[in-house]
Amino acid sequence: MTAVGASLLERLDELEGKGLAAIEAAGTGDALEAARVTYLGRNGELADLMGRIGSVEPDVRPRVGQRANAVKTALQEALETRARELAAGAAEQVDGEADLTLPGRRPWVGGVHPVTRVIDEICDIFRDLGFTRVQGPEIETTWYNFTALNIPLDHPAADTMDTFYLDEDVILRTHTSPVQARVMETHEPPVRVVVPGLAYRRDSFDPSHAPAFEQIEGLAVDEGIDFIEFRSAIEHFVGRFFGRDTGSRFRPSFYPFTEPSAEVDVTCTVCRGSGCPTCKRTGWITIMGSGMVDPAVFEAIGYDPERYTGYAFGMGPGRIAMVRHGIPDMRMLYDGDVRFLEQFA
Ligand SMILES: [Zn+2]
Repeated sequence: MTAVGASLLERLDELEGKGLAAIEAAGTGDALEAARVTYLGRNGELADLMGRIGSVEPDVRPRVGQRANAVKTALQEALETRARELAAGAAEQVDGEADLTLPGRRPWVGGVHPVTRVIDEICDIFRDLGFTRVQGPEIETTWYNFTALNIPLDHPAADTMDTFYLDEDVILRTHTSPVQARVMETHEPPVRVVVPGLAYRRDSFDPSHAPAFEQIEGLAVDEGIDFIEFRSAIEHFVGRFFGRDTGSRFRPSFYPFTEPSAEVDVTCTVCRGSGCPTCKRTGWITIMGSGMVDPAVFEAIGYDPERYTGYAFGMGPGRIAMVRHGIPDMRMLYDGDVRFLEQFA
């Protein structure tokens, strides 16, 4: 062993010991980087020693070169290990320590969907008039959906409700009205029910239509129910739901299952009757279809049409929620976007 080579090997041993100790002791990323620059940097101690290998006697030069490479590998591995340890420690610290100076998060409070709220309010108002809330199946037979309601399958009214057939005579109901027939089948008068639920039509999603939408239906059947009771029940509802100063009017209309039939309008809740885009400048907004139950419906169901009379009505709670809150597009009610919905919570 020659003098220069022996001295260099000794210094490599020394450098390895110091370097590993410094890396091990580094408590932060900055300290570790400083150790890397000192020992492995371009102008670091190892680079300095390696620069001297050229002056080592040729017979020992390979041995010194190998040793220098081994020291470099050992230091690099130690650096990587220590860097991983520091990163893991930092992550643990973030998990373990709460920053008490941050502002608190308000707890999430759920809310009732604006359409559900309309349905609940309508049911509450009619409950005070003696109506029971009932539900029925969304998959119906054509008999309940059309025939029992005095809508022959070849009637134009059946066309406009053309819908999703699951079988030749099984469909997704096009309105909540079949529940009227189901209730009358199983209950003798007096009957007073409100029926909220989903109905399905072959409509595309647009600002005022949806292929699946909420409907609410009402039916009253008893001895001696006349048009005056019908009209006063509807006016009572309008006053409580829209406010005492809201006017209402009955407009003659046609439905196969009521006779006479009327559409009910209320004074526009936005402009109070003076005319605006919401009411298409008429001052009125249509909120329901209604009428006295057609005796043919009582006959189909087995009630005595000579003895009993009644009235029925149907509303779209989605449309009513749109009017109430000034919502321009029905699709917003179905998107489930929390930013929209939380305004009503
Ligand atoms: Zn208006």
